[in-house]
Parts: sequence; C-alpha cells; structure tokens
Amino acid sequence: MMTQDATPPDAAPADSVIGLRDAIAAGASAREGVAALLGRIGAANPELNAYREVYAEAALARAEAVDRGERSGPLAGVPIASKDVLCYDGGTTACGSRMLRGHRSPFSATCLARLEAAGAIVVGTCNMDEFALGSSTETSAYGPSLNPWDTARVPGGSSGGSAVALAAGLCSAALGTDTGGSIRQPAALCGVVGLKPTYGRISRHGLVACASSLDQVGPFTRTVADAALLLSVMAGDDPLDATTAPLPVEPELADAEAIHRPIRGLRVGLPRQYLDAEANHPAVQRAVERAMGWFRDAGAELVEVDLPHSRFGIPTYYVLMTAEVSSNLARYDGVHFGHRSPERTSGLDAMTRDSRGEAFGDEVKRRIMLGTYALSSGYHDALYERALRVRRLIANDFHRVFGTGGFEPPAASGGGCDVLLCPTTTGTAFKLGEKTDDPLSMYLNDIYTVNANLAGIAGISVPTGLAPAEEDAPELPVGVQLIGPAFGELRLLRAAAMLEAARGPMPRPPARG
Ligand code: GLN
Repeated sequence: MMTQDATPPDAAPADSVIGLRDAIAAGASAREGVAALLGRIGAANPELNAYREVYAEAALARAEAVDRGERSGPLAGVPIASKDVLCYDGGTTACGSRMLRGHRSPFSATCLARLEAAGAIVVGTCNMDEFALGSSTETSAYGPSLNPWDTARVPGGSSGGSAVALAAGLCSAALGTDTGGSIRQPAALCGVVGLKPTYGRISRHGLVACASSLDQVGPFTRTVADAALLLSVMAGDDPLDATTAPLPVEPELADAEAIHRPIRGLRVGLPRQYLDAEANHPAVQRAVERAMGWFRDAGAELVEVDLPHSRFGIPTYYVLMTAEVSSNLARYDGVHFGHRSPERTSGLDAMTRDSRGEAFGDEVKRRIMLGTYALSSGYHDALYERALRVRRLIANDFHRVFGTGGFEPPAASGGGCDVLLCPTTTGTAFKLGEKTDDPLSMYLNDIYTVNANLAGIAGISVPTGLAPAEEDAPELPVGVQLIGPAFGELRLLRAAAMLEAARGPMPRPPARG
C-alpha cells in the first residue's frame, strides 16, 4: 500500500546519488568510494561490457579533490557514467562505431560539463548501439553489453551500456540519450529508472547527432528523486544549443522532499491503444495493473483516454529518424571526421565509398539507405512530408489529453490528464541474437516509446518489480512508463515517485565478476 513500504525522502537509499552525496558531505571519503567502484568495474566489466572506456586516474584525482574540499556542489563525489555519444574532453567518443574509434573531442558536452561543475565524477563512457541506432546494444562495434539479470539477454538499447553500468552497481547514475526510447527501454529491461526529458530541456551541445529533431539527453538512476536531481543540474538554457528552452528550472527538482510530496487529485490517463493485452507480455500487463492499483490507493483518478494516431508512431518515426540520420551521418566522409580507408584507389568518390563501407555497420547502412530513399525526389512528398504531417497529428493527440496548447509549460490545472500510464515495452529482456536477423521485430521494441519523441514531450520508465521466472527465463525486471506534457517534468517525476514509494525497494541483480 501507498505508505507501508514508502522510502521516506530523508532516508535516501545508501547507493542512491542523494544517499552517497549526503554520506560524502557527512565525511565519507569520495576517493575510497571511487576506488571501490573501480575495483567492481575491473571485476565485472570484462563480462558485462557496460563501459567502453574508464577514466580511472582522472576519477581518483577528482575524488581526492572532493575530499580536500576543492570540489563541491550538489553532486560532489558522485560517480557518473557517460554514454559514448557524448563528447568529453577527458576521453574518446566513438559512438559505438568503428567510424569514430579513437575520436577525441576538444570539448565536453554541456550536460557533462554541468554535472562536473556540480561536483560529479565522470568515471567512464558506456557502450551503445552504433550511432544510437538499435534496441539491444548488439549493433555496437565494441560487442554487445550483457544484461546483469541474465547475461544471455540484451540490456536493451541504444543506451544499453549505461543501464547495465547502473543496474550492476558500476556507477551511481548514468547518462543516456533517447531518440525513440533509448533511455526508457533499457531502463525497463535492466530494472532502473530512466527519464527522457522534454525536447529542449537539456542541451544537446556535444551530443553527436542521431536524429536532431528527436534526440534528448537524460539520466538513468536508481531512484526517481535522483533523476530529478540530475535533471535539475543538466537542464536549462544553453547558448550553445538554440533548441534549449529558456525556461526556468524548477528548484523543487533538486529537493527530494518536494519530489516525494504526493500529488493530490492526480489525473492519470490510460491510453487505450497502449494497453492491448494481446500485444503485451502478461507480466507487462500485470505491471501496468499493479501501477493502476497503486495510483488508485494513493487517491489518483484514473481515466481512459484515446491516442488514435499513436498506431502510426513506428512508421512515422522510422521515416523521419532515418531521413535525419542519413543527413547527419553524411559528415563521416573519410575527409573531415572518422575513419579513412587505407585503400588508395581512384579519386574522392571511391575514397568516400570505401571509408563509409568499411567503417559503418549493417544497421547504420540500412538506416542511411532508408532515409536517403525517404528524402529522394519522387518519394519526399509521399514519405517524408507525409510523416511530418502525421507527427503533428500524434502530437495533437497528446496535447488534447493533457489539455495543453502545444509547446508551452502546462497550466497548474489544465483540466486534462497530469500523466499517462502505459507499458514501456511489450516484454522483458530478450535473448542475445533473438532479433538481430529481423529488423522489424527489433523496431517494434519502440512501439510505446517513439510517440513521446515525435511529440517532443517527457517520459519516464519506473521499475515495478520482477516478472516471475519462466521455463527458460529467470526473474526479470519490468517497468511501466509515465508520459507527461512538455516541460511538465516536475509533476511527471512526482507521479513517478508515488509509484516508486508504493512499490518499495527494487531488488538488485546478482553480483557479477
Ligand atoms: N531503438 C530506436 C532506434 O533504433 C531508438 C534509438 C534511440 O532512441 N537512440 O531508432
């Protein structure tokens, strides 16, 4: 029930960001914490392949600076894992690709710079699907990451390495990026919290572009209050990214007590189109039903809503995202960025073709071809233009149920739903190799997540517990998704915290290494 197992906000779990931050502020050694963490990474990472690169010496030096009182802030001493698609001046950014192997950025992404300015310690960068294209990390040129709940299974993707690093206890929080579900889906499959903020909430400066109108940076955390805290540090206007919103960042996001204050009269929408018992694994249906029960017990009002255009989400997304990917990835031409073929055949065209042919993996090539086709003259109107129009219809569905006019902060009481409750994924973690030969079934992983990206609104996956073991599967985590209006993260996170409190402590996967 709502209050029995609730974690009081003034007693954050010791392994949470807030718990660790408070322990360090009370005198615990940040250096010892980082040293122990590096030991765990050394033991478990060879098997799990969560990190692609670890910054051991720099992390220890930064932790020592925290212990000497030279580095402070709301995240002082907290070890955070980055994703291989974020530029960082302390390491390389390969985007999970051969194309950018060894690429050094001369600057750090704004989100990482802000975390460091708040005292956080970037311990390494995590494995991901190549150029964030995938749902399992199996398209990484650096091998797949393994799910710590069952290493025969994928952790999801594209931010799979980040989710694994956190779930396996190899960091206190991790960053991901979400273009169509790449934070929320791996969070659900690994049993952690994953937040995709509103488009424009966190700067994309220093994020290597995948699909620029959809990409958004966000945190993976163990608790909802941790996600709110990380959001508060990273969010806000950035002169280096013209798509960031010049809106104030609510101070309550950094206040765990405010996040845990239940919302009276919360209106939770249940989108009919997302709750199809035939499409969803029984454990996923049960998870949503449990969440409905928790909300009801907390006094929320549950209302069925319709998002009729959501069923066009997958085709719309895969036209628009591949179009944008084909354009963004044109810069890897063997001249300016990335791999250049050692073949010295005949001329520029051959050099470009060889360089791209050698360094891009199959999924990247598939997306470039699909996107180039969608943008080609003759198909541009039928595919790209039409997908843009459907995108607007999908967004309008959300604005109608939230009672919002569009891209503006929600009114205090818009009369519509505060949040929508639905699954994050149709099932639990699938086996390595199970979907690699069937791109369409891989793409269907995103069926419940892409629409929030198309609409530019916020979504979060919150673990509800473990699905019972099956004949060939151990107990595996399940999550549910809450979707909120643009710039409505505060209410979204408070609703998520209500679920988390009703759930009680989330089990951890078996230790590895
Ligand atoms: N799985 C989705 C895709 O392959 C989402 C990727 C992402 O969010 N980066 O496109």
